[in-house]
Amino acid sequence: MKQLETDVLIVGGGLVGASLACVLPSLGLRTTLVEAVPPRAPSSPSYDDRTLALGRASCLILKGLGLWDALEPNATSIRQVVVSELGAPGRVTLDSAEMGLERFGAVVEARAFGVAVMDRVGSLEGVDFLCPARATALQTGAPVTAGAADRDEAGPATPPDAVHVSVEGESGPMQLKARLVVGADGADSMVRELLGIPAEVHDYAQAAVICNVTPTEPHRGRAFERMTPTGPFALLPHAGERCGLVWCVPDAEAADLLALPEEMFLARATERSGGALGTLRRLGRRSAYPLKQVRASRDTLGRVLLLGNAAHAIHPVGAQGFNLGLRDVAVLAELLAAHVADARDAGEAPDPGAPALLEAYAAWRRPDREATIGWTHDMVSVFGSESVLARGARSLGLAAVGLLPPLRRRLASRAMGYRGKVPRLALGEPLLAPGEAAS
Ligand SMILES: Cc1cc2nc3c(=O)[nH]c(=O)nc-3n(C[C@H](O)[C@H](O)[C@H](O)COP(=O)(O)OP(=O)(O)OC[C@H]3O[C@@H](n4cnc5c(N)ncnc54)[C@H](O)[C@@H]3O)c2cc1C
Repeated sequence: MKQLETDVLIVGGGLVGASLACVLPSLGLRTTLVEAVPPRAPSSPSYDDRTLALGRASCLILKGLGLWDALEPNATSIRQVVVSELGAPGRVTLDSAEMGLERFGAVVEARAFGVAVMDRVGSLEGVDFLCPARATALQTGAPVTAGAADRDEAGPATPPDAVHVSVEGESGPMQLKARLVVGADGADSMVRELLGIPAEVHDYAQAAVICNVTPTEPHRGRAFERMTPTGPFALLPHAGERCGLVWCVPDAEAADLLALPEEMFLARATERSGGALGTLRRLGRRSAYPLKQVRASRDTLGRVLLLGNAAHAIHPVGAQGFNLGLRDVAVLAELLAAHVADARDAGEAPDPGAPALLEAYAAWRRPDREATIGWTHDMVSVFGSESVLARGARSLGLAAVGLLPPLRRRLASRAMGYRGKVPRLALGEPLLAPGEAAS
């Protein structure tokens, strides 16, 4: 059987795993990326027709990863965010100009992101991309059995210095030995499962129907989110005067929406939008995604770390999922860069899976992760409830945000991806402060 050795093995070349692969070679870490589905295949679970709203922090992180120049020509600036509630008067408008910003962020298409990130991965020395190839088993020194994390086993007295991963590729089975394994294999993460890390799953019993439409009125960089008892409805500004539509509905209604004749679908979508941009026309391909929140009980175990949806999959309300995953990437890259520089200064070989490094990662990410998951879940619950208390809370909430500039600024800053300790890439700074760079 073929044997390979690498510093970092990333399982899953979706939006988050592939983004991480772009930065590791610059740190001198040999990286192997394993992805089950070819990125340009119609069945790619990651690079499809979805429009991705990216906050300012994410745009800067993507610049630091060397991806923004390829994305920018087809990215559409978000200059205003308009939030309203079906059946309630008034709306809240967050305006980037009012806050002295050119834009809050930008919208890119997941398919275009796939092209840019795969071109970048392919151009980098120091990344081995195995695709189509599927990770099937994982051994952290002692065989990993389901439930090991649950029982919080102490593990062997001498911590193993590598993880062994079995991979099934086109040319047969392989064994990979890595100092750090990153599970970026999505909400149904096999890595998480093999480690026995429990995950809390909340099924929203909703599906998001997505497609592209062209409204009769120009979007002028405005993103609309309309909260309804059955889930949010969003129109995201997109290239060529198109808008990305994300329509969350109860599970049972999704199939009907997909099957509706084009004219009827557009008429219903126009009605749901409250006429925000006039009449919706020119319907693109429709698809639906079941919505659930998945939250791993921990994001590191031994030399393995969970990233992106494998650690936390959230409802698309507020468009936070990939943004959160990119902040995972930025923090991990920053900690790895500092570790590599310190190791080289000390004349030692860097160990990207060092326990102290992974503990620092988990501690740094916890507050942002918990707050973002909590906020997203609360938005769905509060706007999905017809109780008098919930109705009172949301009209008070919307009124307060509408009236108070400091609250608007705080909300905008969070939507842009700034909360708690911010990683350097999200501020547009290099991974290491001047003077910290390895000599
Ligand atoms: C309708 C909708 C709209 C959204 N809009 C936004 C938005 O506007 N902004 C935003 O920030 N987020 C948005 N999101 C969230 C965003 O799509 C996710 O956060 C993002 O896809 C997570 O990326 P990931 O790489 O962690 O996981 P995934 O994209 O699921 O990628 C996981 C990858 O791992 C691979 N894989 C799985 N198992 C294995 C294995 N054993 N071996 C090898 N490879 C494997 C899969 O093939 C896949 O490519 C939206 C989500 C939905 C559903």
